[in-house]
Amino acid sequence: MRAEIITIGDELLIGQVLDTNSAWLGQMLNKFGIKIHRINSISDDASEIKLQLAECLNRSELIIITGGLGPTKDDITKKTLADYFGMRWRIDEMVLAQLVSFFKNRGREMLEVNKLQAELPEGCITLFNEWGTAPGMWFEHEGKIIISLPGVPYEMKNIFEFKALPLINERFSQPKLFHKTIVTINVPESILAKRIEQVEDHLPSHIKLAYLPNWNMVRLRLTGIQQTGKDITTEIETYILAIQSILGDAVVATEDMSMAEIVYNQLNAKNQTLSIAESCTGGYISHQMTILPGASKVFVGSVISYSNSVKHHQLGVESTLFETVGAVSEQVVTQMVEGVRERLMTDYAIAVSGVAGPGGGSVEKPVGTVVIGVCSKDITLVKTYHFIGDRMNVIGRTNNMAFDMLRRLIL
Ligand code: ATP
Ligand code: MG
Repeated sequence: MRAEIITIGDELLIGQVLDTNSAWLGQMLNKFGIKIHRINSISDDASEIKLQLAECLNRSELIIITGGLGPTKDDITKKTLADYFGMRWRIDEMVLAQLVSFFKNRGREMLEVNKLQAELPEGCITLFNEWGTAPGMWFEHEGKIIISLPGVPYEMKNIFEFKALPLINERFSQPKLFHKTIVTINVPESILAKRIEQVEDHLPSHIKLAYLPNWNMVRLRLTGIQQTGKDITTEIETYILAIQSILGDAVVATEDMSMAEIVYNQLNAKNQTLSIAESCTGGYISHQMTILPGASKVFVGSVISYSNSVKHHQLGVESTLFETVGAVSEQVVTQMVEGVRERLMTDYAIAVSGVAGPGGGSVEKPVGTVVIGVCSKDITLVKTYHFIGDRMNVIGRTNNMAFDMLRRLIL
């Protein structure tokens, strides 16, 4: 079965909003064995929508559309779909009742445009939106399925997972698809490929290996389609073990997870705590911790010591060091990491100081120079790195390597 996604919105085309809806839908559908063949992003324009839909209907059986279902004038998807399929309008009484209580519960006046959200094309099945006002819609046309969802990511996700997916599963039964990801750190993609050449060259044709590099890490994803006979899960596990034994400690996880999550799991298992002192990353590392549910079990807090004054007053770094060796130095980071651990009274700490760029570099400390320190009560480890890439790259790489240093220290 062929499936396609159409994301609608001028904001996507001018790069104002990143199309995360497609990425998420792709992941979800993949899990359920449905392969996406194309992702199409188009503008909020009725003729573009019709043109794209006609193209998709020519070559695919399942088409998922996101965006343009809101109450404002720029939201034209619903009207365009009704036009396209030549459908009249009906009021969905359940949606109307839900809208009335939605506005009542929030103490907001319900405007005429809001009421219009209960007006749906006659021939579609309503996919209720529990978190917003625009319902999703399920159309069937000449044996093909067209699903229209709101653009707002959390509304789209909720409707898709709980309303659309069960219907899709009922409709299309697919051969089982299985994925497994190995997460590696600090080995470049080309070297990884060389090291696992033997395994990769002998993969059967129904199992594919993908390399997904990002910020000093590479995720290796094996995807297999169930064949008659062998169980695909067991088959992929065998290759995972083979790759893992070749790559050794470059492998940090055999499940897709962030470095923060890996360290969180280690600390949580031992009931131990972490504090962080961040200069060039400005809170990014702490944020990676606090986006994890239950972070408070291990993460105590951090000091965003962006200025030398905060490094001195809040962490106890000797101010003479800023003159002699500079803020981006192993001496300063040693005092930062030990200072934050003692002051915040944690088992472990991370500290970073560096030149994220694009300005601020020098001959001795070019842009991308970052000093990372980690410590426990007894051991402090500090290392200088030279990262490449723009500001965000330097921050991202610093984050991953800092967590990796701590991971190794805890091990
Ligand atoms: P609303 O009722 O909010 O108007 P809608 O269904 O009309 O919802 P849009 O107006 O297309 O949706 O988009 C609403 C917001 O959702 C956009 O401003 C954007 O931030 C986000 N959004 C839309 N499409 C995507 C997408 N493909 N990926 C990520 N975010 C998106
Ligand atoms: Mg809108």
